[in-house]
Amino acid sequence: MASRICWHCQQYAHLTQIGDPRFADDPAVSEPSIWFACFQCDNCRYYSTGKLIVHEDTKALKDRLNIHSIGSTTSELRTKAVKRLFERADADIEWIPETALGKEYDNVDNDTVKDSASEAYACYSVRAYRAAILMARSVCEAIAKDQGFEEGNLQKKIAQMEDQRLISPRVKQQADEIRYLGNDMAHGDFAQPVSADDAHEVLNFLDVLIDAVYQQPAKLRAMQTAREQRKNRKEVSEEERVPPSDDGTRKIS
Ligand SMILES: [Zn+2]
Repeated sequence: MASRICWHCQQYAHLTQIGDPRFADDPAVSEPSIWFACFQCDNCRYYSTGKLIVHEDTKALKDRLNIHSIGSTTSELRTKAVKRLFERADADIEWIPETALGKEYDNVDNDTVKDSASEAYACYSVRAYRAAILMARSVCEAIAKDQGFEEGNLQKKIAQMEDQRLISPRVKQQADEIRYLGNDMAHGDFAQPVSADDAHEVLNFLDVLIDAVYQQPAKLRAMQTAREQRKNRKEVSEEERVPPSDDGTRKIS
């Protein structure tokens, strides 16, 4: 069973192998041999490529995987064995794409913010950590401008968002951390190495900021609208149940 966190839907999902695996270098002359197989995510139907380095020869694979060789050529047998190998839970498969290329943001009505935040994730997915941090800093600035805070530098814009209660003090601190690290990148201060964890934290903080400014308010609005609609439906049904009085009007208690 080949399973992974899908690069597209970001769910832990089973992937179905499509067709036969193909080798990148001839296994008859190359040992170990490199194989690729095509997989489709059972959840979102998007495709991934699996890469597997096979160290055993055909006979060893056949014996280990208990494959019957009757009527098969050596080449067919090896393909069958590798296909079986790709299905094993303990197979050391390298997935391509390795991680999500970008990220989908629901409830963000500004395309610039949405697309550039996704681009920050795309940078991270190809291990461009400095670029991811720099992009995250730019998204902070874009968010502030989108919310009408155009004056001053990014530090001031973030402070104004907190002053206007658009973000909490904690979210402000997280936005400031993006700014600090992003400023280093923006000003060419590359003396300190940037790790995957640094970039990952910055992206997490960016998600918190986007959640606070766009997603939570949108969810709140949706919930309030649903409550209003329930209330209106209830009033209408009560009105229909009350018989009209002598003067033709309906009295609702
Ligand atoms: Zn998927």
